[in-house]
Amino acid sequence: SGDAQPRGATVEELPGWVHASSGKVRELYRPAPGSPWDGQDVVLMVASDRISAYDHVLGSPIPDKGIILTQLSLWWFDQLEAAGISHHVVSVEVPEAVAGRAMICRNLQMVEAECIARGYLTGSGLAEYRESGTVTGLVLPEGLTDGSQLPEPIFTPSSKAAQGDHDENISFETLAENVGAELAVRLREATLRIYVLAEEICRDAGVILADTKLEFGFDPAGALTVADEVLTPDSSRFWPAESWAPGAAQPSFDKQFVRDWLTSAESGWDRNSGQAPPALPQEVVEATRQRYLDAYQRLTGTELLL
Ligand code: ATP
Ligand code: MG
Repeated sequence: SGDAQPRGATVEELPGWVHASSGKVRELYRPAPGSPWDGQDVVLMVASDRISAYDHVLGSPIPDKGIILTQLSLWWFDQLEAAGISHHVVSVEVPEAVAGRAMICRNLQMVEAECIARGYLTGSGLAEYRESGTVTGLVLPEGLTDGSQLPEPIFTPSSKAAQGDHDENISFETLAENVGAELAVRLREATLRIYVLAEEICRDAGVILADTKLEFGFDPAGALTVADEVLTPDSSRFWPAESWAPGAAQPSFDKQFVRDWLTSAESGWDRNSGQAPPALPQEVVEATRQRYLDAYQRLTGTELLL
């Protein structure tokens, strides 16, 4: 978090709102004095078209990404609500300039942890497993490979790093030290409950929910509430179920094109150089936009009209 401006960010002036902070992808605003929301403890969360990869905000935005992520999050919040899980969204009546890509949310006291659930092994979980047979210290069976389904979903928290730093996987014990044992248990329960619910909805839509990252906060009454974006291609790995084949990287509805291009010889970029990544070719931008749209359509069963 913080007020540093990410690369390529433009902070819009929005009537009735005062800019409060910039994340890698989102801008947060607070109600302006005298505005309709003044005096209420809410934030306006505006999703930009910025995309981050390997801890860099890229110079090339993905057109409509902010709308797609916001609309998909809202759809998921409805699914959670239907299952009796409360969330932070209060209203989608937002300023015209950010229509579709913003939501008014309860201003929560955020828990400083990223709550990740994994039902399948890949990414940083796979890297740790190959090293030690564990993921965030949890011992897994032998013989698993990239894309393997886990015997049961696991909770694998990570620390929420300051902007520019890596989020680091941490053990449940470290989470408990950071936030308290009782809260750690509640975070694990809430995260796995949402994963199990969402995994089933995804499965019915022909999508494997390999893993997902959630953020929680406390509302003024002290209720632990799911916040931020939920179950989007930025926060989750979605794999088309029909092509699932453990043993290699799975095709997925996310930033795969971006990551693949950035690490290819063509980009000329060295991930470990500390340098900003180059601009994305137009076809990578287009393919990525299409993947985000595909995810929305598969999951919700409706086409997003832009
Ligand atoms: P960072 O903020 O560390 O840069 P990020 O890049 O993931 O993380 P964004 O997704 O761009 O951040 O911005 C969203 C920010 O808003 C996050 O810091 C998130 O914790 C915060 N946030 C989400 N929901 C709420 C809420 N209901 N109340 C207050 N803050 C929230
Ligand atoms: Mg975020």
